[in-house]
Amino acid sequence: RAKSEGRNAIRFFSPSMQQLFNARAAMESELREALATGGFCLHYQPQVDLDGSIVGAEALLRWEHPRRGLVYPAEFVPLAEEAGLIMDIGRWLLEESCRQLVNWSAHPFTASLALSVNVSVRQFRHPGFVSQVKDIIAATGADAGKLKIEITESLLIQDLEDTKRKMLELKAMGLRFSLDDFGTGYSSLAYLQRLPLDQLKIDQSFVQDVATNQNDAAITRAIISLGHNLGLSVIAEGVETMDQQVFLVREGCQNFQGYLHHRPLSATMFDAFARSRGH
Ligand code: C2E
Ligand code: MG
Ligand code: MG
Ligand code: MG
Repeated sequence: RAKSEGRNAIRFFSPSMQQLFNARAAMESELREALATGGFCLHYQPQVDLDGSIVGAEALLRWEHPRRGLVYPAEFVPLAEEAGLIMDIGRWLLEESCRQLVNWSAHPFTASLALSVNVSVRQFRHPGFVSQVKDIIAATGADAGKLKIEITESLLIQDLEDTKRKMLELKAMGLRFSLDDFGTGYSSLAYLQRLPLDQLKIDQSFVQDVATNQNDAAITRAIISLGHNLGLSVIAEGVETMDQQVFLVREGCQNFQGYLHHRPLSATMFDAFARSRGH
């Protein structure tokens, strides 16, 4: 009896559950379609130094939906992960990022730029992740030293040994690592020195009120000095106002990303912009 019920279990969903289920199933097949037909693209948000010069960019995934227009990662990355699509999307994303680095390397204004890519926990944990990166770098001929992987603190909480081994393998090829959204997770500070990190990225939730909220100011100040004491570079994300920028500069932060400087740009816009700036 349980078995026959199971087969028809969908009937026992309430109408709204049924709608949700259908919507997710539809989106999952649209995501597969997008993968097969080149429906994703990357936007590039400049990262600048104290002079305001562009030193690199973060690749941000976009889905060019045939009807909905540009869809942002918060709306589809979680489902893509659940549906087991993240390795395939991740492969595309790394390939596209490496192709971009190769393109940039051919022009004096963009040749020195580094590119940061976001790698989700599931993608990083996949047993094939390191060899995927290796293969893509070999196939595209990208300079691994220009590729920075953004990971999050959740990778530090669980299976630290796996994290460390994979990081070391990739670092041996020249890749660098940035710890994204830093301060929002629950990682022990002791882990930070056990991993071969290169950069801390202060989460935008702290940056947002840094000029007006004493707690956020204190946390941000602590992150900057922690990073520097560990020999890491520190970048602030989500910098929107001059007040935030001034605070961050005064506290010793040296790299910045946010709307105050630049919005994420399409590849074409990014190139045009970098060239016009003479970088
Ligand atoms: P994140 O890695 O922390 O990326 C920063 C997010 O902040 C981006 O949103 C960016 O557009 C936004 N942002 C940048 N400057 C500002 C600012 O000044 N103010 C505000 N309010 N926001 C700013 P986006 O592109 O929607 O990405 C959201 C998240 O999606 C990312 O957070 C990242 O966790 C994830 N994501 C993006 N691309 C990928 C990807 O290729 N793979 C995976 N696995 N996740 C990705
Ligand atoms: Mg990021
Ligand atoms: Mg971030
Ligand atoms: Mg963030």
